[in-house]
Amino acid sequence: MRKRVKWIGMLVIVTLLMIGGIVYGLIPYSPIPDPQPKSSRMTSQQKQNKVKDKEMPSSPSMHLSQERVNHVLKKYEDRTPTYWGEKVPGVRLRLPTKERVMALTFDACGGAKGSQVDEGLLRYLASEKIPATLFINSRWIDANPKRFRQLAKNPLFEIANHGTEHRPLSVNGRSIYGIKGTKSLKDALDEIVTNQRKIASITGKMPRYFRSGTAYYDDVTVAAAKELGIEVVNFNILGDAGATYNRLQVKEALFHARPGSIVIGHMNHPEGETAEGIRDAVPLLRKKGYRFVKIEDIEKHSEKVH
Ligand SMILES: [Zn+2]
Repeated sequence: MRKRVKWIGMLVIVTLLMIGGIVYGLIPYSPIPDPQPKSSRMTSQQKQNKVKDKEMPSSPSMHLSQERVNHVLKKYEDRTPTYWGEKVPGVRLRLPTKERVMALTFDACGGAKGSQVDEGLLRYLASEKIPATLFINSRWIDANPKRFRQLAKNPLFEIANHGTEHRPLSVNGRSIYGIKGTKSLKDALDEIVTNQRKIASITGKMPRYFRSGTAYYDDVTVAAAKELGIEVVNFNILGDAGATYNRLQVKEALFHARPGSIVIGHMNHPEGETAEGIRDAVPLLRKKGYRFVKIEDIEKHSEKVH
């Protein structure tokens, strides 16, 4: 009788070990490191970081490894886009606040007609201590390397990514305004990543925000950018329509600002009237109680609030 009990006990143990082995064998092993490791394997520091991750996109690492880019490519390459435009799901259009704050953003597009510097505008922002987020294209950096370094060193300004070749972000070559979009997800990621790494290598800081040339995207490219830890940021106030607005039009556009508005303007067309319109609007907006922030400022702020 005793012997029988012993045998049954051993049988139970062997069975449990076998089940354990099978279950263990079934857990898929991913050769690509999971950007958010399982909680059971987390150190307390990782847990703290994860709390932050819930509130904002994880900051892209300084190196943005090719392994991570390949992982995102593999994950999203078979997806078919549903949306195409400036207000695609996942694109930030305004800041999450009810306070009277707004963000001025200025694009520097680069290329043959887009590589100038609106020194009048930049001087005004600096003299009035108006923070701004500058979306800089790779070609503009090449045309103005010294000026770029100066701007990146100025804590008043935040450097964001405005693409490598200034293309709309598409997985299948869609065009807008006669500008051909990237033709695949790989091209779209290259458009982001090449300039991302260039900016990081010069400034020592990875940009957190991206806006494509033309500000057009499909939803697959927006989701893939987010997976890389980069948030796509557009606007809800068209501030200068590609630096074509006159002084009064710029001023009136800014007057439509609401709490949390993001304004798009340009800092590469000194021949336009963007600077003049901004100079007219800012004192009046301040009178209405508005203050100006960089996009990263409000993210930090909302972290404290919640
Ligand atoms: Zn541009």
